[in-house]
Amino acid sequence: MLHTATPSIYLDHSATTPVRPEVMAAMTPYFAEFYGNPSSIHAVGRRSGAALTRARRTVAELLHARPGEIIFTGCGTESDNAALRGLALARRAATGADRLITLPIEHKAVLYTAQDLRDHFGFRLTLVPVDGAGRVAAADVIAALGDGEDVAAVSVMLANNEVGTIQPVAEIGARCRELGVPFHTDAVQAAGRLSLNVEELNVDALSISAHKFYGPKGVGALYLRDGTPFLPFMTGGSHERGRRAGTENVPLAVGLAEALTLAEAERPAENERLRGLRDRLIGRILEEIDGAQLTGPRAERLAHHAGFIIEGVEAEGMLIGLDLAGVAASSGSACSSGSQRPSHVLEAMGYAPGLAAGALRLSLGRSNAPADIEYAADTLAEVVGKIRGSS
Ligand code: PLP
Repeated sequence: MLHTATPSIYLDHSATTPVRPEVMAAMTPYFAEFYGNPSSIHAVGRRSGAALTRARRTVAELLHARPGEIIFTGCGTESDNAALRGLALARRAATGADRLITLPIEHKAVLYTAQDLRDHFGFRLTLVPVDGAGRVAAADVIAALGDGEDVAAVSVMLANNEVGTIQPVAEIGARCRELGVPFHTDAVQAAGRLSLNVEELNVDALSISAHKFYGPKGVGALYLRDGTPFLPFMTGGSHERGRRAGTENVPLAVGLAEALTLAEAERPAENERLRGLRDRLIGRILEEIDGAQLTGPRAERLAHHAGFIIEGVEAEGMLIGLDLAGVAASSGSACSSGSQRPSHVLEAMGYAPGLAAGALRLSLGRSNAPADIEYAADTLAEVVGKIRGSS
């Protein structure tokens, strides 16, 4: 097929998203115009302080939480670290409980933190297996909890970044609540795509990151339920009610709040639009490319997310071929692109390493129109054909 000008089609919204103009506009005054330290007593500081208060209130409302339960952080990874370390260390200090429960398909921000707590802080770790679609059975987590007495913290992600699977968080949370075990969810991929109502989800802690929903990079938030024992790992000041020391990043907090407001307002309609485009993309790829299979479930998955394995084709070649034709895609998580090791997520789902090497993730977003989907499907078929033809 002959393409005149190389288009620029971004299908990697699970890795990151562009900052929306409305978000840029909301943040801009707080860099150089209203630059005060929100802790300062003078008017310049009070102006920033008021913006920070508004941002916190906005995020709290969207999560059905109280403003004092929102902690602004430096990213999703920090929110996950703060939650896991903070909950586990506090509960162990109070009760001696020393076991962590999580999933083998968690993002490394959770998985590696849990492993670090095991390897360097003396915790025991239970990884509850998932099925071939990457979904954990709530009953399996509940069984792993037992009477909960030896469990320091549980962390189960709301939606997976590589395969888009949605987990039964509310059900698991209900049992954790009965047992009094602190429960965290990594909602970094879910934010702007699923409801983040912390009451309905039965969570004590929840992580989000602005750059996944058209906000800036370098800012996240952690919801922490009032009364949940927590040991901060950032000490040094009374910022964020003593739970995360460091002068608050007012412009980025304002940006996160604005981005989440817009994403929540548009969520139902945008999800429906993206689901239509995604299903068309999945349909075409499964029909037109031999040896293509969907990873993750067909139904219980994020609306914008399509993950595949293309048998006998290495991800790297596919990604380069797509990129040359103007399509930005990924093999799974942004962090594992470029590393040769097959993804720990696909491994935990039971894929043989050889198959997992052909993983492809196409994650849609606001900029994608129906024509992009047709072009991406045409281009992928062409790229896979070329790779197969030359090998
Ligand atoms: N958790 C999940 C599920 C993610 O997808 C990511 C980013 O890819 C993170 C955590 C880390 O977020 P951040 O990039 O803001 O550190």
